[in-house]
Amino acid sequence: MPEIFARIALTPQGWLKNVQVSIDADGRIATVDSETRPGPEMTQVDALLPALSNLHSHTFQRGMAGLAERRGPAGRDSFWTWREIMYRFLDLLSPEDIEAIAAFAFMEMQEAGFAAVAEFHYLHHQPGGAPYDDVGELSARIAAAASQTGIGLTLLPVLYRHGGVDGRPLAGGQLRFGNDLPGFEALMARAATILKALPVDVGLGVAPHSLRAANRDDIQAALALRPESPFHMHIAEQEAEIDEMLAVHDARPVAWLLDTFEVDRRWCLIHCTHMLPEETIGLARTGAVAGLCPVTEANLGDGIFDAPRFVEAGGSFGVGSDSNIRISTIEELRQLEYSQRLRDRARVVLAGPGESAGRVLYGKALAGGAQALGRECGTITPGGLADLVAIDTERLPGISDGDGILDGWVFCGNGSAITDLWSAGRHMVRSGRHIHAGEIRARYRETMRLIMDRL
Ligand SMILES: [Zn+2]
Repeated sequence: MPEIFARIALTPQGWLKNVQVSIDADGRIATVDSETRPGPEMTQVDALLPALSNLHSHTFQRGMAGLAERRGPAGRDSFWTWREIMYRFLDLLSPEDIEAIAAFAFMEMQEAGFAAVAEFHYLHHQPGGAPYDDVGELSARIAAAASQTGIGLTLLPVLYRHGGVDGRPLAGGQLRFGNDLPGFEALMARAATILKALPVDVGLGVAPHSLRAANRDDIQAALALRPESPFHMHIAEQEAEIDEMLAVHDARPVAWLLDTFEVDRRWCLIHCTHMLPEETIGLARTGAVAGLCPVTEANLGDGIFDAPRFVEAGGSFGVGSDSNIRISTIEELRQLEYSQRLRDRARVVLAGPGESAGRVLYGKALAGGAQALGRECGTITPGGLADLVAIDTERLPGISDGDGILDGWVFCGNGSAITDLWSAGRHMVRSGRHIHAGEIRARYRETMRLIMDRL
């Protein structure tokens, strides 16, 4: 039974010192004891924390990170001009490329402190839209990448049916995404079979892409396919989506959703950037998770989430790396807090009186991430999955005790403070590096060299 000894650990009882954590064969925490001494076979770390879950990722986009930072020829660069580049890029990718890029992104996530990921997977077919012989070919590639890296995977096959709220047909790059309902049902069944090869902490959810790509009947059908599983959807990321919804349904996206469906705790709504105050409060009260992707939202110029109002109304949130332009747990949390500070011209916006911003941000993202993935993780407690991250507080400025560790890491630190990471007890990052980093990096570099030749 693997055992960890930590100088200090964050537990449901608060920060405990000289902590031993043992892990069972199913990757769950077996015992947690404080005021102990290190034993000979134990992995010794400095500060041990529950590791975050990344609640929103499109791994293939890691391969185009940095390729869309050159200004276009005329007009204003926007999400929509970025999306054109993204569609061109994805049409170049073979199944082998998709697997290599996914493995690289998953490895980077683990090195950045994410033990698990919800992969919002919409790339299903060949360029032009013809299905592969195996409808689950690309789901199998994501699963293989998760298997190689050991990350905890919740796969979210995406239902993508239309090119806009008005129901226009798919075009161009979108042809790789589309399924009719019987086709999607077959894909979901195949994905469930593929995932049986992964460790038992694997999860399967379902994700209608957005209100642009799925209408009321599509969403209803997706809900019925897996009635208990995580249910994710992009919403209200762009003002053009608000305009389309107003034109077709005479309602804003979140207001329409709350009026049309019984949104509850299994829902995770990605972005929620453009909401009126009543939408923000209404969404918070459903118990659904707001899936925030602050680094991507900043990169794409989306806008700023109304976090104080949402949290005040009891809303849950987690963070995701989405476009994977940058993969960093702490930069997501920092960007979230800083965007609020810049908008409100205030400090320490998301903590209550006397609370630490780092502790509050990290704690809420732990709980929201676990809920969104349907994963029993997020606390160092017996019975929970051993999703754990260790950081070396000597690499942070200032305080090395208590909540100061999280304030120091989130606001002043960087990813290099991470020494170890376990995904459901799998000890994949040691001395700051993924144990398969050499092989995964080499394959990624060669894959990208060949893609860039075709670009
Ligand atoms: Zn997304």
